[in-house]
Formats: sequence, C-alpha cells, structure tokens
Amino acid sequence: MTREEVETRTDEMEIDGGEQREGDAVPEGVNANYLKVYYGKLFPHADMFKWMSYGNDGKHPGCDQSYFVRREFSFTLDNDIYLRFQSFNSASELENSIKEKCPVKIDIGPVYSVDPAKRRAYAQTGDNVFTPVERELIFDIDMTDYDDVRYCCSGADVCLDCWPLMTIAIKVIDTALRDDFGFNHILWVYSGRRGVHCWVCDEKARRLTNEQRAAIADYFRVYKVGNENSHKKVSLTGLALHPFLARSYTEVLRNFFETKLLSSQNLFSSEERYEKILDMIPDESVTSELRGKWQENRRSSISKDDINVARWEQLKHLLQSGKHKGQGLRRCIEEIVFSYTYPRLDMEVSKHMNHLLKAPFCVHPKTGRVCVPIDPNQCEDFDPTTVPTLSKLLEELNMGGVKADADNDWDRTSLGKSMRIFRTTFLQPLLKSCKEEIESAYSSKLQQSKNSISW
Ligand SMILES: [Zn+2]
Repeated sequence: MTREEVETRTDEMEIDGGEQREGDAVPEGVNANYLKVYYGKLFPHADMFKWMSYGNDGKHPGCDQSYFVRREFSFTLDNDIYLRFQSFNSASELENSIKEKCPVKIDIGPVYSVDPAKRRAYAQTGDNVFTPVERELIFDIDMTDYDDVRYCCSGADVCLDCWPLMTIAIKVIDTALRDDFGFNHILWVYSGRRGVHCWVCDEKARRLTNEQRAAIADYFRVYKVGNENSHKKVSLTGLALHPFLARSYTEVLRNFFETKLLSSQNLFSSEERYEKILDMIPDESVTSELRGKWQENRRSSISKDDINVARWEQLKHLLQSGKHKGQGLRRCIEEIVFSYTYPRLDMEVSKHMNHLLKAPFCVHPKTGRVCVPIDPNQCEDFDPTTVPTLSKLLEELNMGGVKADADNDWDRTSLGKSMRIFRTTFLQPLLKSCKEEIESAYSSKLQQSKNSISW
C-alpha cells in the first residue's frame, strides 16, 4: 500500500467515524443512482415542457397542437449510447422517458416539419419533406478558445481569475442581441464546466434561416483565428469603430481589461508576455523604447504599483503621445484590448438550425455541476465554483427530509435560486408574450375569414 492510499483510507475513516453533519454526506460524482434521484425529484420537467411548447400547450383554438411533438430531443446514455430524434407527445411522456432512461446528457434540437421520430415513414410517402423549420438562435462560448490570453489555467479548467472573460461575453452579446437586434427572450446557461450557452427564443429568432443566422454570427466577428505569424488577431479597420464595437469597448471591454484581467492574468509580468503585446504594435521605435524601459527596470522595480498596470500606462502614454499620433497606432490600444477580452464564439453552432445544444439543468458528467441559468443583469456575481453539484443537492435533499411537504423539492436545495432565475427572468415573460402572439394571430385570422365571408 502506498503512502497516498493509506492517507486516503484514513480520511475516509474519519468521515465514517461520526464527524459528518446531520444527514449523510454524499460523495462527489455522477452515477445512475444519483441521476435517478435528480430526475425524480429536482429536474424541472414541467418547466422544460412549457418552454419548449411556446404557448402551444393550452386550450386556445390558435394553438398548434403538433408543435411540441415536432421538437427533437437527444439523449446520451451512460454507456455512450446516443439516442437522436426522440420526440414526445406531452409533458408526462417527456418526464417518464427521462426518468426511465436516466440520460447523462439531454440535448435539444430543432422543431422539424414533421414528428422527427416518424421521419422515415414520412420519407416514404414523399410529400412531406423532413426539414428543420424552427430553432432558437444559439451561441456557445468555451473558455478553451481563450487559452492564448489566460495564464491562470488552461484547457477544461476555469477559476475566478479567468471567468470574467465569460462575464464580458455575456454582457457584450446580450446587449447587442437586445439593443441592436431587438430580441427580448434570451436565456444564458452555465455549461457545467468551462463556458456558457445562450438561447435566443423570440419567435423571429426561432424562424431565422441558416443564412440569417450566419449573418448575425458574422456581426459579432472581429477575432480572426489562425494568423500564425502575428499575435495580432484582431483587425479593426476603418476610421471609426462600428458603433457596436465602440460601445462594447467603452462600456465593457476597456474596463474589464484595465481593472481585472491586466492584473489577474499578469499580462505584462514577464518578457514572454509583454513581447506578445509588443508584437501587436507595428512601429519599431515604439516597441524598442518600451522594451528598453521594461528590461532596464526588471530587477530594480521598487514601485509598489502593479507592474502590469504601470507598463500598460506607459504603453498607452507612448502611443497617444504627440510623436505617434498616427491613427493606426492609436488604434493599437483598442486592438490589444479586443484581443484579450472580446468574446470568441463557436460560429458553427450559431449558423445551423439543426445543431444540438445541451439542455439547461443537465448535470455535467465530469464536474457534477448543474447547468444553471445565469441572470445577465447579475452576471458579474455568477461564480462557477459555487454552482451546486449533484452530490451537494442530494445531500441537501437528505438533510431536508423532515420538510418533505414543501411545494417543490428544489426549493429545499440550492437549486431553488436557479429555478427562480429561470422562471422570473426568462420563462414567465416568454410565455406571456407567446400567449399574446397566439391570441393576436388567431384574432387576425378570424377577422380575415369574416372579411372574406362578407365579400
Ligand atoms: Zn483561470
């Protein structure tokens, strides 16, 4: 037995030996037994059904009763079995299937022209084309795409020093979707590990064609990947910044860069790091002057000021000073900030209607964390390291056993806060406007047929 094993054993024995709190401690992890309890008691089946029905689940004669059953769900099972094109007739069918199959992941696909489970039968009749007709506009932002601008972690890891990159993405994209595109029903969700997902659910967003989706994705693009010869991955052209980029810069990017990332990522703390930034300045006289200063005071720095902040100020001062007033050089400051902060989207996810995206409230199989909604108005307070894990929720359920008569099981756990965010910031306003749309479409249809009768 190695020393490490012995120590682990001892730890376990201490836990078993009575130091635990009231209610059994539940070991971390994700397994079929945990998921059974989660889907049985906590997963919001009814809310998911209401969301995916978009108002078409009531008695109103304007409802499209075939709407929900045309939506594709996809389940990933424990043994890597992948069930695509699942469809359900009702809330209880969906709930029963999830409880029975206990998927480790649930993905949501588009609404098709016909029930996706019957797509083969339709294909044989030949008169119904099986094709996606509606799909939320979705965005996927993953921290691994930022590995060249974060030094605290890499790959799948995230921490509070790099998470602000996600906060920036939420702020920039959410504002543009609302102010520039006029969308209102936007859901942000933590992906459970290292990123965020965005669902734009307005009717006009759901009906966008692939071409229109590509155009919107393109609107957000300033970051160019694959320019290997240069660290300058952002190219801001033209005399003035596009209003969207200018607003993103002054309202979000600059502030996050200067007050958070500069210091938390130590962007100027070593030669290797500052050379990466100097590489983005196309003027030899500027870069050699800065390099000279920084190499000189490398060891003798007695200043108590943050070295990153001090060097950034020197860089800005030199680029803005009289002798380098050229437009191109002043734009460098903005380009550096954009390179280190601007959202990096996985464009392919947004461009195609039939791209699947993981459903909110799934549990990430590696971290055990629930994919909880993020309120965009409070996104600065979101902390991925405190998102409830499956085992924590089960522990809370165990401890709250005496209050088993509470209205909702999730209200007795730390999932309660996430459920309230989901309902109040997203689901309730969405359903209200869906109802109004169905009502007004129906009455204008009635009016039309009345008019044609009176003719
Ligand atoms: Zn980090």
